[in-house]
Amino acid sequence: AKELGHQNFQFHTGEMNARSLARMTLENHLRHALERQELVVYYQPKASLSSGAVVGMEALLRWHSPELGVVPPDTFIPLAEETGLILPIGAWVLKTACAQNRAWRDAGIPSPPVAVNLSPRQFRQHDIAAVVAQVLVETGLEPHLLELEITEGMVMQDATRVTAVLGELKQMGLTLAMDDFGTGYSSLGYLKRFPFDKLKIDKSFVRDITRDPDSAAIAKAVIAMAHSLHLKVIAEGVETQGQLNYLQSQGCDEIQGYFLSKPVPAAEFERLLAEQRQL
Ligand code: C2E
Ligand code: CA
Ligand code: CA
Ligand code: CA
Repeated sequence: AKELGHQNFQFHTGEMNARSLARMTLENHLRHALERQELVVYYQPKASLSSGAVVGMEALLRWHSPELGVVPPDTFIPLAEETGLILPIGAWVLKTACAQNRAWRDAGIPSPPVAVNLSPRQFRQHDIAAVVAQVLVETGLEPHLLELEITEGMVMQDATRVTAVLGELKQMGLTLAMDDFGTGYSSLGYLKRFPFDKLKIDKSFVRDITRDPDSAAIAKAVIAMAHSLHLKVIAEGVETQGQLNYLQSQGCDEIQGYFLSKPVPAAEFERLLAEQRQL
């Protein structure tokens, strides 16, 4: 029995080592991804459900690693968050997205506002409002053309500070969206307390909207509640006409999802704008 226990232990540490090795490899590569220009910002359109027109876009990070292949954000963003690498990476995404949008406007392409994801660690950075202000100055993008997507989770911190930071960002003229609504420790109180403009219904509710009456009921209630708080509502992860129809029937303002387009590189997004892609 003793021997067996020993073997089990060996096996266990072996597995742990393999896992931490994989993690270290990922981390080492990620450390150099920015300077090696392996990171790319993709854009996914958002459409208005009343006009059918593209009225916004979300910047989504992609990592094309020569050694590891295409690494999905769900794998490397949490690691970047843990290691602090999200600070330079996130600043780069923000700057790239703002510069791209300014460039489109300079070229006479009427690009709608761009939304950038802000991670909890970026949000906790003491000078986050100054970082954002600096990017707007450097790129010359008008503040009303920038939206920040903030997850519920990060609003769960020191409420006084969160109120101050969000107030500062809002004061600058940015749009603030609460991302992944409904997935966290929901937080109806936060919607009232903090100056959000928009609420994003998480795709886990949208996915089952036409199959599961509970998901449909949740989406319906969230839309009604958001509207009564004067918030706009966007649904993410919309893949089918049926989902779109339901959301439209409930007065949802905007949608984002594969039904309209996957996230695409800037050049492709430009074509989509030129075509005046409609729902
Ligand atoms: P998110 O902010 O909730 O972004 C939406 C995710 O849903 C994106 O995944 C998008 O590609 C995906 N999506 C869009 N439409 C559909 C659809 O119709 N069906 C399905 N099944 N999925 C759809 P992605 O690009 O893999 O990003 C995953 C997450 O990684 C994001 O979730 C966000 O939390 C994080 N992330 C991505 N880029 C950044 C970034 O620049 N900064 C930070 N802090 N986080 C980022
Ligand atoms: Ca988002
Ligand atoms: Ca989301
Ligand atoms: Ca998410």
